Amino acid sequence: MQRFVGFVYAAVVMKRNERGEEEIEIGIEPHRGITGRCSQCQKPSPGYDRLEERRWRFVPLWNIATYLRYRPRRVKCSEHGIVVEHMPWSEGTRPVARAMMDVLAYWARHLSWRETARTFRTSWESVYRSVEWMVEYGLANRVLKGVKAIGVDQIHWGRGKKADQFLTVIYQIDDGCRRLLWVGRKRTKATLQKGLKTLGPEVVSQIQFVCSDMWKAFLTVLGAEVKQAMHVLDRFHIVQHINQAVDQVRRAESARLRASGKQQAAELKNMRWKLLRRGSRVLGKARQKIKALLASKADTGRAWMLKETFAHFWTYKSVRWAAAFLDYWCEEAELSGLEPMQKVARMLQNHQPLIMNWFRAKGEVSSGAVEGLNNKIRVVTRRSCGFRTYDAMEIALHHNRGRLPEPEFTHRFR
Ligand SMILES: [Zn+2]
Repeated sequence: MQRFVGFVYAAVVMKRNERGEEEIEIGIEPHRGITGRCSQCQKPSPGYDRLEERRWRFVPLWNIATYLRYRPRRVKCSEHGIVVEHMPWSEGTRPVARAMMDVLAYWARHLSWRETARTFRTSWESVYRSVEWMVEYGLANRVLKGVKAIGVDQIHWGRGKKADQFLTVIYQIDDGCRRLLWVGRKRTKATLQKGLKTLGPEVVSQIQFVCSDMWKAFLTVLGAEVKQAMHVLDRFHIVQHINQAVDQVRRAESARLRASGKQQAAELKNMRWKLLRRGSRVLGKARQKIKALLASKADTGRAWMLKETFAHFWTYKSVRWAAAFLDYWCEEAELSGLEPMQKVARMLQNHQPLIMNWFRAKGEVSSGAVEGLNNKIRVVTRRSCGFRTYDAMEIALHHNRGRLPEPEFTHRFR
């Protein structure tokens, strides 16, 4: 299953370590008659000397911790001088064999890193380093050509609302390929600029569509640095803003009613999810409740109506009619006298041209892409305490959502 050209297996022994646990040790020797290769250029080179024995953690056999054992040779390369030989199972000074890193990295996508470590009787640190190795390889070898559409978004992670608790992410949202391209700390102009720089001018100049939310730092940078692309404000974010406004109205009204001792207050509190769901999906008792709410002309009822009406906006085929509808809706929101709704209306009006691009880009940018990736990323960031540091989480995000190429193996132990 695992052949290393130029090397042979020697003794395989089972023994107990100092903690009394069983271990399998597989000895490796150089194949007689085959000279070692330079670790830099892999050219066969005359031997120089041999170093101390090293051990590499290998894939466990029958769930017994297994190690490879070898005394590396040093060779005298005509180009690179005296260097350690190339060992196909080893990656630099890492104490885990490549095959084992591949196994750990694979399972780290399905289990938490801690569970992976426990399952394979190794440390959290070796899982981390294995994923890191995989991601480094993937980032160095991925192909970024042909990225036509990107989505830029911000994601909150950890606790608190400090600037450090936000991430800026750049996705590729082309139909055939949706993946995480880049992630960085904070959600500032500098962050996004750094991200675009990492992708490189060649990639950025090929982008035709950009999808983002209304975050000012993003709008500024994208407007300046991805000029050629059509900039679309994402439907998902607009809907989110309107929903938040409805919720603000509900909360304010609920508090007001409670202060005046009305029993409706409690009812409003329980209705949060019903109000935020799309009207047509609300059935039965909940629907009656909403009707009653509307009849009472409560603020929440009016806000809800506005939100419901807005759903119509997305159904337009003509950009001009959609624009007319938006104007009408913003006027209604203005007239409602509800401050959160007025605020949303003003925000929409300020970004009208970019919102209208949603219709122009229809069919080119899949509208659910950013939202979908966003949700998937959250699954990873929610485990963030398990990653301990930002760097570990960044690696985990690339590992889980980057669709990165993987190193090749003659045999895969997973
Ligand atoms: Zn060399």
